[in-house]
Amino acid sequence: MIDYEGKIALVTGSTRGIGYQIALNLAKLGAKVVISSRNAEDCQQVQKEFESNGYTCLGVAADVSDPEACKMLANAAIEAFGPVDILVNNAGITKDNLIMRMKEDQWDDIMNVNLKSVFNMSQALLRNFLKLRGGRIINITSVVGQMGNAGQANYAASKAGIIGFTKSLAKEVGSRGITVNAVAPGYIATDMTDAITDDARDKLFAQIPLGRIGAAADVANLVAFLGSEQAGYITGQVFNVDGGLVMQG
Ligand code: NAP
Repeated sequence: MIDYEGKIALVTGSTRGIGYQIALNLAKLGAKVVISSRNAEDCQQVQKEFESNGYTCLGVAADVSDPEACKMLANAAIEAFGPVDILVNNAGITKDNLIMRMKEDQWDDIMNVNLKSVFNMSQALLRNFLKLRGGRIINITSVVGQMGNAGQANYAASKAGIIGFTKSLAKEVGSRGITVNAVAPGYIATDMTDAITDDARDKLFAQIPLGRIGAAADVANLVAFLGSEQAGYITGQVFNVDGGLVMQG
């Protein structure tokens, strides 16, 4: 039922991990996709791979913490394919430390890459969405933004900030038919979670009702629905994909 034929999607942080899977899903469903990360070679490589599978794709390197780079990325997408229908703000990093030892740049880098980027990209494409009188913005937050995590105060604050941003923007642009939602993954197998030790992993799994780590595809499947026409009456919401780790009343 879900069909992205004729739709344009821009996914930040899509050269690997969750963002890559989101972009691949949307491409398989018929969307033209714009791939992005800081690394130009990776962008080119993913573009080639997608094209060799028959998908329409453009890879553009951009650091989403930089407002000018975000404007350039948004314009490159529009120039190549026309108005962007779906923006997925996915790029994110971690720089963990206890608050006692956290350096100012560890705080600032996380805020800039994880949170300010969502403002940068949303603002860069807002006129595009207003002209369309529609469109979807999907922001990737984290369960850590809801439950906190020792050693991740910077990351948790950035991800909680994304939730506040999502609800505010949803209220600002709802009357124009634009929906804005957030997706909160739990523990998903990607490079980001590779570094977790076996011991920590066992402790984590014990707290997850489904008893296992998730796959990038688990997140991408929900994003594919939220970005579709069928999700047109859903806005300002946060959806967890976490094996039941956080259950909200
Ligand atoms: P990942 O495998 O490390 O991939 C991150 C992607 O973002 C890469 O393509 C990376 O490419 C790009 N990126 C990083 N910094 C960037 C910047 N400044 N500008 C543009 N692109 C940048 O991470 P992931 O696990 O897929 O995570 C994706 C999103 O899901 C993040 O927002 C993360 O916080 C969130 N999340 C993940 C999990 C999990 O368990 N994995 C759980 C909850 C939430 P370059 O480094 O080459 O730029």
